[in-house]
Amino acid sequence: CGIVGYIGKREAAPILLEGLQRLEYRGYDSAGVALAHRGRLRVTKAAVRVGELRTLVGEDNPAPVGIAHTRWATHGEPTDVNAHPHLDAEGRIAVVHNGIIENAEQLRAKLIASGVEFASDTDTEALAHLIAARLRDGAETLEDAVRGALHQVEGAYGIVVLDVKNPGEIVVARNGSPIVLGIGDGEMFVASDLAALVRHTQRVVYLDDGELATLKAGDYRTSTLQAKRTDKTPTEVELSDEDYQLDG
Ligand code: GLU
Repeated sequence: CGIVGYIGKREAAPILLEGLQRLEYRGYDSAGVALAHRGRLRVTKAAVRVGELRTLVGEDNPAPVGIAHTRWATHGEPTDVNAHPHLDAEGRIAVVHNGIIENAEQLRAKLIASGVEFASDTDTEALAHLIAARLRDGAETLEDAVRGALHQVEGAYGIVVLDVKNPGEIVVARNGSPIVLGIGDGEMFVASDLAALVRHTQRVVYLDDGELATLKAGDYRTSTLQAKRTDKTPTEVELSDEDYQLDG
């Protein structure tokens, strides 16, 4: 339902949590965050409000990269385990996803037949396993792995993916579910809704359907699902933080 991602030089956790709070008006049943720091992935997720998630995440999270989600369950009950982010079996890849993967049942059956154990009942988890498999099979970049995995997927998605073995970038993709990039100064933001970004930057790039992006702290690159580079001109949005004041 709601997505926020950050990569840069500041602590990611407060930025992600504040961003999620800005998306609360959309409604959700669970929330979660994944942070990458010093080769470790720290995932906190539960069927709770963002305020409570903030308490669970706690203070002092030096990680400068992370992804976060508020979930509106479509596949699987609203439980702690079904909350996003979802991980592959190794705990290397973390994925947040808005939308519905239509062929999730088939993908799941295939993955289970190949020995994968699922932790959740969601359609999203299959994506984490597919991306991890692509990396194991020699995909050169996280973007290539995500692109390959998305070729196997039917349905609507906005996703953000984090690889703890390569925390210098995050990969995002969109097909039928909005994704907007926010360009900062030595930092990049991503969200499913401007409301989560405008506090930090007014320079944004809207991804189109069938488009992916790799975000680094000071840089971003967009391309199609067919690996063709796309040239996007950033938009200056007029909205400022005042248009999105939190009520209380
Ligand atoms: N289909 C996914 C799930 O049920 C994502 C739902 C959403 O958009 O929040 O977990």
